[in-house]
Amino acid sequence: DEIREKRLKDLKDQTHIKAVTVLFSDLEGRLHLLDYDKKFLLSSYDNLTFDGSSIRGFTAQKESDLRLGIDWSAFYWVPADIFGTGKVLVFGIVIDKNGEPYSGDLRGVLKNYSDSLYAEKGYTLNAANEIEGFLFAGVDAEKKFAQTGRFDYVNTGGYYHSLPLDPLRRFIDTAAEVQRAMGFQNEKDHPEVAPSQFEINYSYGEVVAAADQIQLYKLLTRQIANNLGYTASFLPKPVVGVNGSGMHTNMSITKDKTNLFWDPKGQEQLSSFGWEYIDRILSHALDICLILNPSVNSYRRLDPHFEAPNQIKASATDRGSMIRVPIGNSRSMRVECRSVAPDANPYLVLYSLFKTGIDGEIASIDNLRQAQRYLPDNIYSAIGDFEKSEWIAKILGADVQGRFVDLKKGSADRSPRLLGTFVKPSEVQYHHEVY
Ligand code: GLU
Ligand code: MG
Ligand code: MG
Repeated sequence: DEIREKRLKDLKDQTHIKAVTVLFSDLEGRLHLLDYDKKFLLSSYDNLTFDGSSIRGFTAQKESDLRLGIDWSAFYWVPADIFGTGKVLVFGIVIDKNGEPYSGDLRGVLKNYSDSLYAEKGYTLNAANEIEGFLFAGVDAEKKFAQTGRFDYVNTGGYYHSLPLDPLRRFIDTAAEVQRAMGFQNEKDHPEVAPSQFEINYSYGEVVAAADQIQLYKLLTRQIANNLGYTASFLPKPVVGVNGSGMHTNMSITKDKTNLFWDPKGQEQLSSFGWEYIDRILSHALDICLILNPSVNSYRRLDPHFEAPNQIKASATDRGSMIRVPIGNSRSMRVECRSVAPDANPYLVLYSLFKTGIDGEIASIDNLRQAQRYLPDNIYSAIGDFEKSEWIAKILGADVQGRFVDLKKGSADRSPRLLGTFVKPSEVQYHHEVY
């Protein structure tokens, strides 16, 4: 309430602000922006409604009315030279007719879960994602791909390798600067391994804020690219023969400011709590694979030759493992899940990983951490595993499980299977819609 009062006062005082953009995401993670006139919002913030029937994975037509609450703790001032003047961003919470968080709004589900874990066990969930993407020439590079079958790079450098003012570096610099202005705790940024590929890292945050920042990261990089005449693409594997783009998900859990994953005497200095967290995720890897890799294209990325793991195992060093334990210290000790695509719904990804790591069941599989087991190599088999999963029904509810299956089947059917290395245009169009 204190935060809300402060924000309301700020909004009133800042006379140049004319409208408030409320952000929420559909079931697949597509970000939606809904603008409210500032004066209206100030008087009616507790009585906002919208029609959910046109939002993918939300309500059926007959029950289309939903409420929108405002999460005043997730409020962002934005630089006008990138986003235009007179607006601020705030994340919304979708609420159903009964006043409960709406089950299709995974941000609300994640927030509820993290709030209840804090209340019950004193846990704080922390996440930091490493989001890779490509910068392609032209503002409609993905549309052009559908016609020409190729993307044009804006640079041909490589890992950490570019001139200080080449196009990719200028783009990264601008994005980093915008993030700082919006309050991200930036750490590092660099051209990635593939030509024209970028990555910008920021530090750990509480899980809901971390997921919000993934959405903002994609929004701001896309807008900056667009302003510069480029396209920022988060297709997991836009170009064959070079690395794809991942969204490695680093996780830790703290209690009373102590990192529960740290144990200087543990194997790889990871605590037994941390190893069990990993074992639970490995046990449920097939259940949650569709959440982590939700598109036809994401299965093309999962190739260990390109640092994108398809093996359901855990390792300290092997980047071909789904789970890696990076070296750390008492503060930074973490578990990294590498088999996550950047076009996944970040709220759904983080909710299912934490929920599974904390509450999942450890399967009786010989040598679970090193067994020869693989993630599916195509979306059909991932849909099959997800659809029949009791674990998914338990953590998401059968209703959301079914809606997600419907959406994913629809996308798979619109994107005929890969023939050789030829990607069907319809697939690209679909992915363009997705993220
Ligand atoms: N681009 C790789 C991927 O698809 C990851 C490279 C890295 O380790 O940063 O996950
Ligand atoms: Mg990387
Ligand atoms: Mg990584």
